Amino acid sequence: MAYSRERDFLFCHYCGTMLTVPSVNYAECPLCKNRSNIKDIEGKEISYTISAEEIRRELGIETIEEQKVQLSKVNKTCEKCGNGEATFYTRQMRSADEGQTTFYACTRCGHQFQEN
Ligand SMILES: [Zn+2]
Ligand SMILES: [Zn+2]
Repeated sequence: MAYSRERDFLFCHYCGTMLTVPSVNYAECPLCKNRSNIKDIEGKEISYTISAEEIRRELGIETIEEQKVQLSKVNKTCEKCGNGEATFYTRQMRSADEGQTTFYACTRCGHQFQEN
């Protein structure tokens, strides 16, 4: 198996960092934690058609989205323009004792405000 010979030539195809190989099944980027299947790498044809948006998603934007509850509309008066409708979502703060924060965004002017 070519595994041991090729391991020094494995680079993260997202950020270019040399990958570590903690397992025979996958290689892991120490920087962005992206894992590549060893079989895929050995298949040589690594695709470079990944868009910047996909990279951002891979790099952890998804962890922010995970915390969001789906946007819904609520009757809330915008303190800036007086519009009576806003979208809102709640987000759990990192430290558990901070509880949940509700964020509002005015549907007319986009003004954002929050409420604990
Ligand atoms: Zn990387
Ligand atoms: Zn407004």
